[in-house]
Amino acid sequence: MERSQIINLAAGPSSLPLEVLQEATAGLLNYEGTGIGLTELSHRSQEFQNLTNSLEKSIRDILNVPATHTILFTQGGGCGQFSAVVFNLLARHHLLYPELKPEERVMDYVVTGSWSKKAAEEARKLGGGLVNIVTDGREHSPSGKAFDRIPPHMSWEFSHAPAFIYYCDNETVDGVQFSHTPNSQTAFPFHLLPQSTGLAPIPLVADFSSSFLSRPIPNIEQYGLIYAGAQKNVGPSGLTILIVRKDLLVDTDAAAKLGAAPTPTTYSYKVLADAGSLYNTPPMFSMYVSYLVVKHFASQGGLTMLEERNREKQALVYGAVDEGVEKGLFVGKVEKESRSWMNVTFTVVDAEAEKRFIAKATEKGLRGVKGHR
Ligand code: PMP
Repeated sequence: MERSQIINLAAGPSSLPLEVLQEATAGLLNYEGTGIGLTELSHRSQEFQNLTNSLEKSIRDILNVPATHTILFTQGGGCGQFSAVVFNLLARHHLLYPELKPEERVMDYVVTGSWSKKAAEEARKLGGGLVNIVTDGREHSPSGKAFDRIPPHMSWEFSHAPAFIYYCDNETVDGVQFSHTPNSQTAFPFHLLPQSTGLAPIPLVADFSSSFLSRPIPNIEQYGLIYAGAQKNVGPSGLTILIVRKDLLVDTDAAAKLGAAPTPTTYSYKVLADAGSLYNTPPMFSMYVSYLVVKHFASQGGLTMLEERNREKQALVYGAVDEGVEKGLFVGKVEKESRSWMNVTFTVVDAEAEKRFIAKATEKGLRGVKGHR
């Protein structure tokens, strides 16, 4: 099969623009006339330093990241951040409120799908504080078991003064996403967030792994931390992008002296920031391709263009899914108002029909139709 005959629908790692791959191929052999391929350069060379700065600037520009936030590049993926968030933000909480007992340190998790559920489980495993489930999408589904909607705002129960509040913008496996229409019942309820009565703001943390750079992020200035693995929308796997408000860059070693769990050095946001994302060898190739992708997006009209394109794409695909549901061929999975623009989930009525559907799709060049088991 030729590349041009395929429509690759894989959720991530996923397809990348052809022009970018062509440019990256050339850079892999000879990066900007240096005579050295990008992955053969020293990560401490001036050329790579310039690339890191360009990637940082391109993300800052396209997303309108305010000067209050720093952009960091690291490894370990979304799953690595499930742990890093807990280490760094409990360390910050220890520095702010050293006298509290572990049971008085509460981490608020909004569970709307399998990734936020996993993040909450990791926090529980790491300990050092209690996990409060603000709301669990399953409890609001007809079966009581499915992640099929953003739970109604009136069901959300935040703690009084949590160390942080965590949610996932787009649940890749379940196909559940927060709306970005202000005042919608399925938008993230910024107006309900508990306000700090203590020494510092309560950080809002969001996993944007599978919706990063698919459309603008409303209220970006209100987040303490946004993170995303590159491999869904931005580049090859290996790179994790962090947008961190600067007051979250705390001395995790000092916090450990006050009783916080010691933070592994490569997880410490402050260590990363102080080293300009070069504490250890970064994922150079993924950073390179990600830069080319962001530059490509910017040249095509940036997030306004992507938002429009993605709006059209999701409408087309859900149109087909709804038609299949009407004809009794498909079963939809997610309530309309909570549907993801990035991951369209549905099942085919029975296993035999599903096999036929996937075979036909493959024949027509549609790959990656069969999603998560
Ligand atoms: N969060 C979300 C929303 C994801 O989609 C994924 C990956 N599918 C992860 C976290 C985990 O990311 P990684 O595989 O990079 O650890």
